[in-house]
Amino acid sequence: MKKHFFVLFFLPFLGFAQTSEVYKVRDYRVKNEPVLLNHFKDFLQIPNIASDLPNILKNADWISNYMLSMGIGNVQLLSPVTPNKPPAVYGEVLTPGATETVVFYAHYDGQPVDSTKWVSGLHPFKPQLTNKSLVKDGKIISWDTIYSGIDPDWRIYARGASDDKAGVFTIINAYAALKALKLKPNVNIKFFFEGEEEAGSTHLSEIFNQYRTLLMGDMWVICDGPVHQSGGKQVVFGVRGDTHLELTVFGPKRPLHSGHYGNWIPNPAMELSRLLASMKNENGQVTVKGFYDDVKPLSGAEISAIDLVPGVEEQLKKELGVRKPESAGSLNSSLQLPSLNINGIQSAGVGKQSANVIPTKAVASIDLRLVLGNDWKRQQQKVIDHIELMGFHVLDDEPTDQDRMKYDKLCMVKRSDGYNAQKTSMDDPFAKRIVKAVNAAIGKSPILMPTLGGSLPLFIFEQQLNAHPVTLPIANHDNNQHAENENIRIGNIWDGLEIFASIMLLPK
Ligand SMILES: [Zn+2]
Repeated sequence: MKKHFFVLFFLPFLGFAQTSEVYKVRDYRVKNEPVLLNHFKDFLQIPNIASDLPNILKNADWISNYMLSMGIGNVQLLSPVTPNKPPAVYGEVLTPGATETVVFYAHYDGQPVDSTKWVSGLHPFKPQLTNKSLVKDGKIISWDTIYSGIDPDWRIYARGASDDKAGVFTIINAYAALKALKLKPNVNIKFFFEGEEEAGSTHLSEIFNQYRTLLMGDMWVICDGPVHQSGGKQVVFGVRGDTHLELTVFGPKRPLHSGHYGNWIPNPAMELSRLLASMKNENGQVTVKGFYDDVKPLSGAEISAIDLVPGVEEQLKKELGVRKPESAGSLNSSLQLPSLNINGIQSAGVGKQSANVIPTKAVASIDLRLVLGNDWKRQQQKVIDHIELMGFHVLDDEPTDQDRMKYDKLCMVKRSDGYNAQKTSMDDPFAKRIVKAVNAAIGKSPILMPTLGGSLPLFIFEQQLNAHPVTLPIANHDNNQHAENENIRIGNIWDGLEIFASIMLLPK
């Protein structure tokens, strides 16, 4: 009887214990909001394109010093063997008595910028505050407004604001909050911030190889990407792989007068269009032979999880101005399959540059997203086989005069590197505890996603470190990542602090 009483009495308190710690983190944040935003502004001001090594090193230094100032130990730059490439920034906190280690990942580099495309008054590396999203009639407001109360719906516009300096910043500050509050983490914490993710993580494998022992952990938590379009927090168990092909279809050796030669000399833009159109039907199915053959079927847990994802299709149709989606299924069911996308097509000029010519060539960039079971080289080859099936002679380089006389149709194919998809089992015991921690932070179940539509080289994490990562995105879904006017909603940074702090206090 007595035993029963205690169980009933203490269970609710155990349940609330985690939440009260999250409230403490919230209190800490509320008291420090302007300070935090000023730190973030400093960080965003440093240009962060991976190929711009001097500035990338400034970012790495800024992060190192920031981590040291927050009491994080063993801070060091992990440089790849290949010289003059962006280093990763590492740090750690060893918790006395802890037997488990969680490694947090985010990246500090960003996509290249074209500042002329940014809305007037904005600049990729001069962070600006707005009172709401600019596409919802938001207005730029003075940075000094932060001293008289901060609305979580305000946004900060800058390259990297959401993808992925927000990740770096919130992870460090989640620990800083725990330290300031004297809340002891339940795990050892390692911090790993990559500087070359947007350039394809080309040297990540070298870094993993060289620092394997240092980077060992029981669980990797990846902070990158957006929250669900419904606004709900999601825990993501996988990512799609990615690779690219560039196709160039050749026409005449010199541009020709479209009147004198039209109807007789084939137009490469027309040939390329016909080729591309043959790769996908009107129902969104890729018609390249064997394209879906290697796809590993979803597990029962994955199918159930997809069923529980809130529907956002009607909201997205309006938001994006698209009445009819390509496939009849839900957005999420579409992301469970490999895709073939045209990233861009170029031939002769349009608009003011339009001239009455038959162009000499037409070029298309193709993006292939991959799911579990696909191999990126095999997937590239299927597309190349299709090009041959459509009557083209495939070349590695520009055609010679002999090639031009020997074959009716010529297509040069440039293959980029790529990487495969990665998935962590939804039954992984560590992953389940991460979900529990997120649950404690947000006070409800997060949305569980078998895979993100986007790609990260998590395949390398699994292959090199035997890691089974889960991804916890924090950015708002309308953050314009990779494009002009990238932004983060301030409330999403605050949520991130609570979620990462909760994971550092990982429940058993
Ligand atoms: Zn990213």
